[in-house]
Amino acid sequence: MPDREHSSGTLALRRLLRGFEHFHDSFFEGDDRPYEKLVSEGQSPRVLVIACSDSRSDPALLTEAQPGDLFVVRNVAALVPAYEKPRGVPKGTSAAVEFGVRALEVDHIIVLGHSHCGGIRFLAERRGGSADFEFLPDWVAMAGEMVTQMENLASEAGEAERLRWLEKAAIDLSLRNLQSFPWIAERVKAGRLALHGWHFDLQHGQIQALDGASGRFRAVAPGELPSPACGCCEGLMELVGR
Ligand SMILES: [Zn+2]
Repeated sequence: MPDREHSSGTLALRRLLRGFEHFHDSFFEGDDRPYEKLVSEGQSPRVLVIACSDSRSDPALLTEAQPGDLFVVRNVAALVPAYEKPRGVPKGTSAAVEFGVRALEVDHIIVLGHSHCGGIRFLAERRGGSADFEFLPDWVAMAGEMVTQMENLASEAGEAERLRWLEKAAIDLSLRNLQSFPWIAERVKAGRLALHGWHFDLQHGQIQALDGASGRFRAVAPGELPSPACGCCEGLMELVGR
């Protein structure tokens, strides 16, 4: 019998609960108790983040966000499906985006992809399906068109370079899909909502943002506020500089 009390899973849970005790001391015991206001007035985050479920790319940790700062939806590879009329099929990501945009009226949406993304690797390697998984193939297949483009990249591009390209291409696709939601397109057009594409390189500890003017990802300098990607990222993307 495994020693359940000292198994790595049990230790991980204990660490999480110790973390919550510290969190509780910080936010419920001190003079500054932000949850009192967050309960009495409700939440009003200005930013919606669509991030990958990956344990290494947590938007709140990356940005040192405080309670109430971010409205977050996470899924495999931070993908946003294109708008479809609801037909009785639950759509978790679309529902979360709708809540953030129509109920909370956020000012910004960030699609936060990342390097070494297992979902994107799955897409690149097993686009045709997999007998080992039931739900993943259909989910990542929404970005299948980008794999075809990746396969047309210059032949000298190595595997890592191709995957980095595909990760960024998926962010670009999600931004375009966001704009297929009529109530998002309206708000972007009216200047009430800005869309951003960020790519977190977890090997080098760097964030690159999709620049709306050039259509390319580039590193964000300290103190810099990157311009939104908005609707200016259409068309094929070049490998060079991405
Ligand atoms: Zn990922």
